[in-house]
Amino acid sequence: SDPVKPGATEANMRIDPKDTFFAKIVNGTIPVQKVYEDDYCIAFDDIAPVAPVHTLVIPKLPVGGVGDVAHVDLAKYKEHMGHIMATIPHIASLKGIDSYRLVINEGAHAGQSVRWLHVHIIGGKSLGWPPY
Ligand code: C5P
Repeated sequence: SDPVKPGATEANMRIDPKDTFFAKIVNGTIPVQKVYEDDYCIAFDDIAPVAPVHTLVIPKLPVGGVGDVAHVDLAKYKEHMGHIMATIPHIASLKGIDSYRLVINEGAHAGQSVRWLHVHIIGGKSLGWPPY
């Protein structure tokens, strides 16, 4: 069966990232308890955690998902995503873990429900494999 979950729809994937909930977190319209923030990214705990640690890291650059790479400034995208990858171990350490799984869902059929790129940091327990 298809892993499409509520909110993860083809229509949702066509939403401008700037119209998403995560855009409001980045522009400060909606306050969120931040785990970490710097010039490139914000990390906050997922509202519906799937594990004892479930933190989301979002770039401050508006990009709907990894599939939107052709539609963004490539140099800025690489700068933001490279920075996020380099910063994730620190964010994980702030959550008290050094063993975790990173997930980026791309598209409705992968379960993406918010069309603003986000990296899930999932941990705090032993994780099974394969992940589906
Ligand atoms: O990969 P996906 O798009 O499904 O991830 C979106 C995540 O954002 C979900 O895990 C969901 O629980 C989380 N979320 C949130 N706060 C919201 C809306 C969604 O933490 N207001």
